[in-house]
Amino acid sequence: MRFLLTWLMFSHLLIAEDRYEFERPLMGTLFCIQTYAPSRQVAQKAADAAFKEATAINEVASDYIADSELLGLAQKPAGQPVVVSPRLFSLIEQARGMAQLTDGAFDPTLGPLTKLWRESRRRQQLPSAELLQLARSSCGYQRITCDRATRSITLRVSGMRLDLGGIAKGQAADAMLAVFLQHHLPITSITAGGDVRLGAPPPGQTGWTVGVRTFDRNKDSGKLTLSHCAVSTSGDLQQAIEINGTRYAHIIDPQTGLGLTLPAAATVIAPTAAQSDALATACCVLPPHKARELVKTIPGCRVHLAEKRD
Ligand code: AMP
Ligand code: MG
Repeated sequence: MRFLLTWLMFSHLLIAEDRYEFERPLMGTLFCIQTYAPSRQVAQKAADAAFKEATAINEVASDYIADSELLGLAQKPAGQPVVVSPRLFSLIEQARGMAQLTDGAFDPTLGPLTKLWRESRRRQQLPSAELLQLARSSCGYQRITCDRATRSITLRVSGMRLDLGGIAKGQAADAMLAVFLQHHLPITSITAGGDVRLGAPPPGQTGWTVGVRTFDRNKDSGKLTLSHCAVSTSGDLQQAIEINGTRYAHIIDPQTGLGLTLPAAATVIAPTAAQSDALATACCVLPPHKARELVKTIPGCRVHLAEKRD
């Protein structure tokens, strides 16, 4: 009996696990999986299931796919509760929760403004005051109702449109790690662009090494060693544009309805990637002292803010 117990305790050490990597473009970025598994076949099976889950999340929650369930919500008359899939309900409920926590610095109801801003970026021209006002009048996270009992979402004001772009990659990374845990492969890291979800540390190490890139596109500004958590970086590094001599980020300042104009970059460590993703976006919007204050109040969260450049 004692022999059996000892064998059970140490058997995982005897089965050598190799590292396997998988990549797939999704949600406008590259998703990368690293996992330690007893064989390629076992790793591949988990990776296929994880990519399937992330693809399903993208299909319901994308605001680029014209017939996504998310965009379908915007077509329904305002004020009408709409029963949605369990997957979409959980994504929206989580996003609304993060909006409340950040007091709207992260706000998934900025859809009308992000749509308008995409158009401005394309035309390299700021939107007219009228269009900006119209879009702003249909925003506000307090105007979404999530009813668990009926699994329904109500967008209470006409013209509302949700954009989960600031949280969906994190949510997908969380869901993918959950799939690996179901496959008994806890030593896994999922990278979805700037959002990383980490399981148990690699064998013999204290954690996974995560390079953080903020203002300099070609250089890591720091390295972190982490496990059992998530880390996200947001900022204007990748997608900034210049209009009339002013540089604007792809992140919307809810106060102005336009892209942020001050260079901002934030790296947030949190228990889940949905949290780190939404918080990193929020921390770019908030003044640095407010960002630090906010993150301090959330259990298990830390923030690194890059210095704002002149
Ligand atoms: P991220 O790269 O995670 O910071 O997310 C940026 C994306 O989130 C943008 O491309 C928009 O789709 C969306 N977004 C922009 N501004 C905000 C905001 N203030 N709150 C929530 N989502 C936003
Ligand atoms: Mg984000």
